[in-house]
Amino acid sequence: MTNLPSILSVVAQQPELPLYCFSAKRLTKQANIFINSFAGTVGYAVKSNPEPRVIRTLVAAGIDTYDVASLNEIKLIREISPSARLLFDNPVKSEHEIKEAYETYDVRVMAIDDNHELDKVISTIGVKSDLELVIRFKIGNSNALYDLSKKFGTSHEAAVALLKRASDLGFQVSLTFHPGSQCSTPESYSDYMMAAKAVVDDAGIAIKTLNVGGGFPAPYLESDIPKLQLYFDAIEATWASAFADSGTELVCEPGRGMVDACVSLVTRVKHVRPDADVVFLNDGVYGAFMEQLFSPMVLPNREFRVIDNNVSELGSNKKNFTVFGPTCDSADILPYQPMFSNELATGDFIVFSMMGGYGSATATKFNGFMPGEYVDVCDTLEDHHALSFIGEQVNNELGAIA
Ligand SMILES: *Cc1c(COP(=O)(O)O)cnc(C)c1O
Repeated sequence: MTNLPSILSVVAQQPELPLYCFSAKRLTKQANIFINSFAGTVGYAVKSNPEPRVIRTLVAAGIDTYDVASLNEIKLIREISPSARLLFDNPVKSEHEIKEAYETYDVRVMAIDDNHELDKVISTIGVKSDLELVIRFKIGNSNALYDLSKKFGTSHEAAVALLKRASDLGFQVSLTFHPGSQCSTPESYSDYMMAAKAVVDDAGIAIKTLNVGGGFPAPYLESDIPKLQLYFDAIEATWASAFADSGTELVCEPGRGMVDACVSLVTRVKHVRPDADVVFLNDGVYGAFMEQLFSPMVLPNREFRVIDNNVSELGSNKKNFTVFGPTCDSADILPYQPMFSNELATGDFIVFSMMGGYGSATATKFNGFMPGEYVDVCDTLEDHHALSFIGEQVNNELGAIA
């Protein structure tokens, strides 16, 4: 961890291909924020970023609970942390996945959201008293950028019935929900937790865990979101009023909110059409920016030029640019027009921050453009104020790209 390069010293090497700059220090800080402020067990949703150095850093920070959705995610965590608690929280699994997870990988927690999945579990591995079935339910409106309740989650009545049936059969039972990704209202968690309490009361069955999912937001530009602490406060207050003496364990499994801030992406400008304010980058929506296709999120960015190994930040007069990625597909365009310096030219570098969640995780190799690789750095873009970043001393000897 010592002598890691800074983002600027990575830029100084003039990388031709996109590079994800990972700060273990920043991720450790975020893990500690969750561990110290969330009133229960903190897990991590592997799908948001399965990069091994992310997982290793979280394990070192003390996170031992992982939300996994596939056998490959299960294998990944088992390799890095054989004793971790795995929550197979994908409510729809194949018989093969259920069997492998239970028998080969010691998975003892699985989500379900209908009777057919419960039937499938029983016909595949039988009733297991050491298996915790977590019933995913949903309530009406979502205040999130992604409303995940369209795909998963059962109604109050069905959740009550499923809870009873699974418990009567002899499984351990729990409840979970996901308020939607990039959830903008802390009250959503309280509403969901009270809805969970109503399910528990109507079923008359105590639950082992209440898993409040992910959804904790990241501070993108132009997104006026409440501070993370307000989410923790809302959850803690509702927990105290509804579950305090229940013997139930409170769990969360953030993805984006945990991992977004620790990764910055260094991209290079392949071409500028100055007359049209159009820029072509070496990465696009088929790579690091795929999530932008589904929900535009304005990412913080800074622009740099390298001359004789010296990095300087471009002038702060900015204007909107149309941004194309490197493929020949006309859909390879950012759905919003970011602000870049009006000095931007071919060969310059643009660093985007808040790239940890759903950046590298969703990148494709479409058209022969491979996903960027990872390098370890000591900082994030947010560690630097604009003025101190300009002319910052860059020591190339520290900047060896792994
Ligand atoms: C994707 C997912 C998460 C993480 O969601 P974020 O919005 O990234 O925090 C948590 N739990 C489940 C079941 C998920 O599918």
